[in-house]
Amino acid sequence: MQKHIEPDPHAPMVSCPKCGTKMERHVNGSLQVDRCPTCSGLWLDALELRRILETPGEVARLDKGRGERGSQRDSVRRINCPRDGSPLIAMSDPRQPHVRFEQCSVCGGLFLDAGELKDLSELTLRERLRTVFG
Ligand SMILES: [Zn+2]
Ligand SMILES: [Zn+2]
Repeated sequence: MQKHIEPDPHAPMVSCPKCGTKMERHVNGSLQVDRCPTCSGLWLDALELRRILETPGEVARLDKGRGERGSQRDSVRRINCPRDGSPLIAMSDPRQPHVRFEQCSVCGGLFLDAGELKDLSELTLRERLRTVFG
């Protein structure tokens, strides 16, 4: 049975938008991220991304890096939001065009391939250092 799923903390488990595997929920305090055990992709909210990048150790805990399977999944492009079924839009960080991720225009959810969270966090770190030393 299809029902509308709201992006709230008590939302049911979602399936990986890329490979369809049931994602595993990782909760740390108020942070809640779903990770695919098969391709290591991450599903999170836009606000959660910022908070993860600002929480020391969180990126390393969640993102297992760009493995063989992770980069393989990079070629899959036409995917839908696991929450509301809307097509995800491929995005890239203008400061880091090699990092490509998908975002839902309806609920704002983000899908990151394995290794992409790490990439984004490294830029955040560099920017922070530039602010301090520049
Ligand atoms: Zn997956
Ligand atoms: Zn959505």
